[in-house]
Amino acid sequence: MDLEFDFVIIGAGSAGCVLANRLSADAGNSVLLLEAGGSDKGFWIQTPIGYGKTFYDPAVNWMYMTEPDPGIDNRQSYWPRGKVLGGSSSINAMVYIRGQAADYDDWRDLGNRGWGWDEVLPYFKKTETAAAGGNRYRSADGPLYVDNVSQQHHPLCRRFIAAALQCGFEFNSDFNAETQEGVGHYQITARAYLHPALKRRNCTVFTQAQVTRILFNNRSAAGVEFMQGGQRRRVKARREVIVSAGAVNSPQILQLSGIGEPALLKNHGIEPVVELPGVGHNLQDHLDCCYHYRSRLPTLNNRLYPWWGKLAAGMQYLLFRKGMLSLSVNQAGGFLKGHPSRPRPNLQTYFNPMSYTAAPPGKRPLMQPDRYPGFVNSIGQLRPLSRGHLRIDSADPFAPVKIFPNYLSQEEDVMQMLEGVRLLRRLASSPELAAIIEQEVTPGIEVRSEADLIADIRARSTTVFHPTSSCMMGPDRKIAVVDNQCHVYGTRQLRVVDASVFPTIVSGNTNAAVMMVAEKAADLILGKREH
Ligand SMILES: Cc1cc2nc3c(=O)[nH]c(=O)nc-3n(C[C@H](O)[C@H](O)[C@H](O)COP(=O)(O)OP(=O)(O)OC[C@H]3O[C@@H](n4cnc5c(N)ncnc54)[C@H](O)[C@@H]3O)c2cc1C
Repeated sequence: MDLEFDFVIIGAGSAGCVLANRLSADAGNSVLLLEAGGSDKGFWIQTPIGYGKTFYDPAVNWMYMTEPDPGIDNRQSYWPRGKVLGGSSSINAMVYIRGQAADYDDWRDLGNRGWGWDEVLPYFKKTETAAAGGNRYRSADGPLYVDNVSQQHHPLCRRFIAAALQCGFEFNSDFNAETQEGVGHYQITARAYLHPALKRRNCTVFTQAQVTRILFNNRSAAGVEFMQGGQRRRVKARREVIVSAGAVNSPQILQLSGIGEPALLKNHGIEPVVELPGVGHNLQDHLDCCYHYRSRLPTLNNRLYPWWGKLAAGMQYLLFRKGMLSLSVNQAGGFLKGHPSRPRPNLQTYFNPMSYTAAPPGKRPLMQPDRYPGFVNSIGQLRPLSRGHLRIDSADPFAPVKIFPNYLSQEEDVMQMLEGVRLLRRLASSPELAAIIEQEVTPGIEVRSEADLIADIRARSTTVFHPTSSCMMGPDRKIAVVDNQCHVYGTRQLRVVDASVFPTIVSGNTNAAVMMVAEKAADLILGKREH
């Protein structure tokens, strides 16, 4: 081994950056963070709406394609994943949502002691500085700034909210406080965690360093092997190896290292180290169906379609860090029950005061707005029952894994999406929105029967990029991969800490929950008493 550290963290994404920061806060710990991608200094990474630019940029993005998926008409899905410092949080839409309290009580009730809502809330608070200040649910002194930018949102967002109130839904001023239910404005995050830690002498970050496997000494993780600048290198971990490579790459690294289904590993000539059939299974994700409207009132399209509008917005952002480019496209939305009998919200809606048709990978930037004033309202199911899987297709660590999302494979999921699109139609026919909708462009009002609506859901729904649970936490090692301390079953000195350990997907965007998991794991690793 040419190097030696106490902790070796694989992947500088949402979770890895939190861990590097917390583990290196004690000057007595030496930490190495290994990242396959490069620096996060690019303009489009630092620009919130630059999401459209990084979406298809292989310099910062793994750009995965899934296998053809029967539940969505055998379409392949494009899965962007950040390959850069900050990981997917450097290329994401920055919406800050924690999920529902009941999600974490579900985690606990599945047998994961210590992960109920009351136990995780302090860790959500530990991550953030909320613009509106601290209270029982929010904190004012964490590393991640969470901004309330509702004043800067497009005026159409207020019309969307008024429409929802006309449909009988409630306004919610903070989706991340007492209850998530209702409609309102999304809060957004800054990009923050790693930079304080980078200044510490005991925290080393290697970029362009792709881990190829974990090295074992009798089932104890002794270090890792990685490729950097065409050189194969090895590093020893005196205390622990922590895999934080995300929901796609963490299971891949485990399988490449001999942890998984023995038959699969042997098929690829990999000697099994620990039999853990759950690696790569239980894969979950959020699917979303967009309805596009032509508007009678101006939308962001009017400002961003012409080249001079783009230039003006760019200048405003460069000079003042304000304006359209400082915001997410997902401005308003909410968490709603598709049917009053639902015990808690089962659907999430996004209202974007801009419309665009996504280009296929590699053709042009994602978000060329439509020529006409338009907006998009979309709906997704919060807690799908469908489960997919992913697996290595070769022993070559540089070959992509095969991903089988298995979307809409459960009838219940189809029914909840149907509730969802009917809800979009209800919103659109409320007086507030009906007054400004010139036309439902997609799917078009002729799509009306149950069969046609379902066919349209299968034909057009797309991922919103929240894969989780492919190294699931749980009490039963026949299906789970890690225990409630994030230890990989059957090994020593090895944990997985990232979106892949979620026992179930949370009700909303996943980044806040990933950071919470990493905060809590940092305390577990350091042996600190839980908050
Ligand atoms: C386009 C997009 C939009 C999104 N929008 C939102 C949003 O608005 N709000 C929200 O809450 N969530 C959003 N998400 C989801 C959220 O960003 C992710 O859930 C979260 O960032 C996942 O964190 P992670 O630590 O599990 O993995 P990641 O952040 O993906 O980090 C994994 C890191 O490991 C590195 N890595 C992988 N393999 C190796 C290897 N072999 N060696 C070394 N390094 C490796 C990767 O390059 C990456 O940097 C979005 C995601 C995407 C892709």
